[in-house]
Amino acid sequence: MRKILEDALESCRKYAEEGRVANYIPELAKSDPAEFGIAVISDACHLECVGDYDKPFTMQSVVKPMILLMALIDKGADRVRSLVGVEATGKPFDAFNYSDQALKREHINPMINTGAIALCTLINGDTYEEKFARLLDLTRKMAGDEALSVDEDVYLSEKMTGNKNRALAYMLKAYGMIEDDAESVLDVYFRACSIKINCIGLAKIAYILANRGKDSRTGEQVIPPEYARYVNAIMTTSGMYDGSGEFALNVGVPAKSGVGGGIMAVVPNRMGIGIYSPALDKKGNSLPGIKALEILSEKLEMSIF
Ligand code: GLU
Repeated sequence: MRKILEDALESCRKYAEEGRVANYIPELAKSDPAEFGIAVISDACHLECVGDYDKPFTMQSVVKPMILLMALIDKGADRVRSLVGVEATGKPFDAFNYSDQALKREHINPMINTGAIALCTLINGDTYEEKFARLLDLTRKMAGDEALSVDEDVYLSEKMTGNKNRALAYMLKAYGMIEDDAESVLDVYFRACSIKINCIGLAKIAYILANRGKDSRTGEQVIPPEYARYVNAIMTTSGMYDGSGEFALNVGVPAKSGVGGGIMAVVPNRMGIGIYSPALDKKGNSLPGIKALEILSEKLEMSIF
């Protein structure tokens, strides 16, 4: 395994030159495009890591599966589905151009911004601080890292400049899909996107999702199996932005990427993978990360299809 990871890392480094770090959140523009790390947890919890596997980065959209999980745990699948649909949109993660006059649940899914922002309202808690604290606790637990915290600079940077997300939240409100104060809802979303993690943390979350919600290291059923299945299914169809179909063909596993450069990939019953490289393709996926996953998929026969 180690040799396969080292080879994948070295042969995919060159793609960083073709990618670009995200700059629409000013703080993310400071990322170093040359950083590249991979962590894989496989049989009997064996961890193998190469490159910058311990460098922290912000989760960004990789937190969306966590928001979905938290909403499922707190309110159940029927309530989640009554607010946010499950179909792939084929559009960018922050798209506005819904074709109908009114915004409806059918237009959104949990892996795009509008869906994730809406789902923040379903997390239990009397205040939005409490809602975020619950989400952070679950993320810490699944990542096996009690020290996970928010990158305050990235959080503030997005809060100051995130007017498109603000518009999406107000659109949800305009169409009666959220009742709460839009700014409070957005605050949870911006904080969630700014949680700092590393490749090992992502691999651990993925390993739990790969094992139907059970933490094989402790034997604890951390999340109900049906919710792990829900999240894995949605990641398969919509986790890699509007490149999810291509990714299904070339890699073939449930995965979620984020504009911070992280990718979390779930190989059902077998592996959890965390990758980090902030050089993104045009759709927002880490370019070296996707290329490395293509190699791993072939060498380790990962595709579920
Ligand atoms: N915080 C980012 C945003 O909402 C997350 C986007 C992403 O990673 O796809 O714009």
